[in-house]
Amino acid sequence: MATTTVETFRCMMCGHEYTEQVEKGEDKERSCPKCRSNSIRHLKKKETVSS
Ligand SMILES: [Zn+2]
Repeated sequence: MATTTVETFRCMMCGHEYTEQVEKGEDKERSCPKCRSNSIRHLKKKETVSS
């Protein structure tokens, strides 16, 4: 049974941010849909705002 979550990624090359469905435990190589760079950084799902 596959659990998927929507994760946010950011390309370090062009700064493009996008979301993609990720299977739990999956760690495949990603590339930017915009510039095809593989310098992708995984962002946190939700920013916690604390004052
Ligand atoms: Zn890019």
